[in-house]
Amino acid sequence: MEHAPIEIDGGVLDDLRAAIRGKVMVQESIRLLYSLDGSAYQVVPDVVVVPEDEVDVVRAVIIAGEEDIPITPRGSGTGLVGGALNVGICLDMKNLNSVSVNGDSATVGSGVSRGSLDRVLGKHGKMLGPNPSVGGFCSVGGMLANNAGGSRSVKYGSMVDNVTRITFVDGTGRMITLPDDESIGQDIMELTGLIDREKLPKVAKNASGYRLDRVGSIGETHKLLVGSEGTLGVILSADLNIIDEPKDKMLFVLGYDSAYTAMANCPKVVGTNPSACEFIDHHILSQADLGLDPGIDCILLVEYDDSLQERATMLRSIITGTIVAESDDQKEMDWWWDHRNAALHHSLIAVDKHKRTPHMIDDAAVPVDRMGDMLHILDGINKKYGTSIITFGHVGSGNIHARLEMDNTKTDAIKEIAGAYCREISKLGGTITAEHGDGFASSEFIEMQYGGQNYDAFKAAKRYFDPYGILNPDKKITEKSTIVEHLSAVRTFHGGKMALSKEAY
Ligand SMILES: Cc1cc2nc3c(=O)[nH]c(=O)nc-3n(C[C@H](O)[C@H](O)[C@H](O)COP(=O)(O)OP(=O)(O)OC[C@H]3O[C@@H](n4cnc5c(N)ncnc54)[C@H](O)[C@@H]3O)c2cc1C
Repeated sequence: MEHAPIEIDGGVLDDLRAAIRGKVMVQESIRLLYSLDGSAYQVVPDVVVVPEDEVDVVRAVIIAGEEDIPITPRGSGTGLVGGALNVGICLDMKNLNSVSVNGDSATVGSGVSRGSLDRVLGKHGKMLGPNPSVGGFCSVGGMLANNAGGSRSVKYGSMVDNVTRITFVDGTGRMITLPDDESIGQDIMELTGLIDREKLPKVAKNASGYRLDRVGSIGETHKLLVGSEGTLGVILSADLNIIDEPKDKMLFVLGYDSAYTAMANCPKVVGTNPSACEFIDHHILSQADLGLDPGIDCILLVEYDDSLQERATMLRSIITGTIVAESDDQKEMDWWWDHRNAALHHSLIAVDKHKRTPHMIDDAAVPVDRMGDMLHILDGINKKYGTSIITFGHVGSGNIHARLEMDNTKTDAIKEIAGAYCREISKLGGTITAEHGDGFASSEFIEMQYGGQNYDAFKAAKRYFDPYGILNPDKKITEKSTIVEHLSAVRTFHGGKMALSKEAY
């Protein structure tokens, strides 16, 4: 993209500059930088605002409302579905970076990176449960807004399970703290009464739509903001539950002769209460030098962080695969985990750049005992469309990341596959996105997944908190099809096998 004209009025820029202590930037080079994230999409914002503090956020939202300009919060831009990309004002939240630790809770600014948070918590011998594989780069605001998970979600849940209070600015510029504000809380409780529970996904992790289903009482109203992708409010800070860092861990690497065998074994593996249960398929294994027996088609990484010997004995009694490696040595465990965390990288370098598609079927989750059915659906897609699909992910939570490999100029087929996949996943009681969010990739399928009654409840929530429709428009609630609309020019990745030498650990 060579030239990106600014669509908003110079007077609005003057208003922003007069009202805000932080930065207001319109240079094309800056706007292009913020036009990308971890996804395949690109949208150039008209102006990038970097609030200095909470008051700046309120002022920016009020100006956006008065001028009818979209405003979209951005954390670290690691999202995989274009969640932080939009026209209008891009709000970079990085300066809201305070952390204070109080026993088993931490009050954290939304701009704090997970890496910084980990460092502070580590000094207290604590950690946050959710751990997206992107590592320390993502922000707490982005993690909350996407209901992020990661490998440890199988034991510690997603962000929605680990947050007790959220302060945010809604689309009218109100600064609200939930669940403290009981008046707004009562209104949210009324919205929960509109939900058709029969149509809700029956999964451990879900980042699709609005999580009205997780608001069970007036003390949980803040959970509506989790997974809302900046469409209901700009999160300023949150109180997060933190837990003691485990003293010891043990990792088992299990080999299987097929993905179906591995998936069939998963429910029993999950029954041993692992702190992680992750899957890597043969496509990815072929990109990594792990020294595995050629008969091994795929592996599970199963980690425990408590009662190690007892759990190891349980695991040995139920596995149908073979034990490839078993270790409680931190360096060796790190070596295996780095390969797992690089799975997305491995999956990309394995694919010709013209066959890299957007992340649109890559984050579904189903009940753990239906993962074999999920593989059948993926095999059906390959058969019908002549595609190939790379799989890995958080199978302990029923969440398989599926990278579709096909001619990425065939956008009609991409849309058709995504729609069909969503329908089939819904039939299994699953969700189209477990942790990455809807963004441009699956917002158009939310109504199909949840049904009309739930979608109407979501629309009511959107109207309540964002009556002018300025907060990250066309995400979550949209009449448009956005799945291929904003795809950027194909990006270049440098191929080659990833060599993680054990000696370097
Ligand atoms: C290699 C790789 C691996 C990944 N692995 C995982 C994984 O294992 N698990 C997982 O859950 N995710 C994973 N992700 C996806 C992503 O990193 C996470 O969802 C992360 O939490 C996004 O945080 P961010 O700060 O980068 O958000 P951004 O990309 O900046 O934004 C994401 C969304 O959050 C909204 N947002 C950001 N800040 C705020 C705020 N203050 N208030 C309101 N809304 C806000 C944005 O508007 C946008 O809709 C991975 C991504 C990559 C590139």
